[in-house]
Amino acid sequence: MNGLLQLEGVTMRFGGLVALDHLDIDIAAGSIHALIGPNGAGKSTLLNCISRFCTPQEGDIRFNGASLMARQPHHIVGLGIARSFQNIEQAHQMTVLENVLVGLSAKTGHYVPFLPGKTRQQAEAQALEKATQILDQLELLPFQHSLAGELDFGRQKMLDFARALASEPQMLLLDEPAAGLRNREIHFLDRFLMRLAREQHITILLIEHVMSLVMSVADQVTVLNFGQKIAEGIPADIKRHEAVIEAYLGKEAGHA
Ligand code: ADP
Ligand code: MG
Repeated sequence: MNGLLQLEGVTMRFGGLVALDHLDIDIAAGSIHALIGPNGAGKSTLLNCISRFCTPQEGDIRFNGASLMARQPHHIVGLGIARSFQNIEQAHQMTVLENVLVGLSAKTGHYVPFLPGKTRQQAEAQALEKATQILDQLELLPFQHSLAGELDFGRQKMLDFARALASEPQMLLLDEPAAGLRNREIHFLDRFLMRLAREQHITILLIEHVMSLVMSVADQVTVLNFGQKIAEGIPADIKRHEAVIEAYLGKEAGHA
């Protein structure tokens, strides 16, 4: 398979700790690829390697066939990879709309996107329209003039999404987007991720502990344990996989 994102032999050590151990993962364009496994398995580290906050000691990561290894973190969004964080990171003193406008500029580095042949006013109008459209998709439009810090937790997570989507990514890296959400919000997220993949052809790498969400949306699931891939396949097979039940699902089901 020749995926949009390819990891080959990726090994990340922190001192004596091997967080990722010769990992091969291939993510098909337009798919939702879930990454699951117990706490400490190396999931967030993998995302950090892709977004270049970490540099693996061995292996290669390719996006659209080109290695990311020589890239810096600030190049990544311009290449078309956006991410959300396990802990929400947004400017609480800015309005919801302003947060998305900053997201829009992330790719170009300009507050108002440079659009060839357009005046500044036209570019501003277009940026505003785009931001409004993203907020509408995420049911945040009624809150556009509220301060981000005044939103409830679920809406702050949706705003984090909006900010990531504003950079018009080809690929989204999501670190536990459903954590702390209510059932209704998880259901919304479920449909939203499906729409992003199926209608906007955005490829999604989804780290998630909420198994109902993973099993519902994922095309492929990779299971990590102690930095190693212990299983990979379609959700129905992963659910029945003995090593996965042993290392992760069995235990999780216990306190779900
Ligand atoms: P997960 O997201 O699957 O819960 P992480 O990727 O956060 O796991 O962590 C994998 C392992 O790497 C853990 O043992 C963690 O303590 C360690 N680790 C992660 N980041 C660092 C770091 N910056 N320095 C040292 N150890 C780290
Ligand atoms: Mg993590």
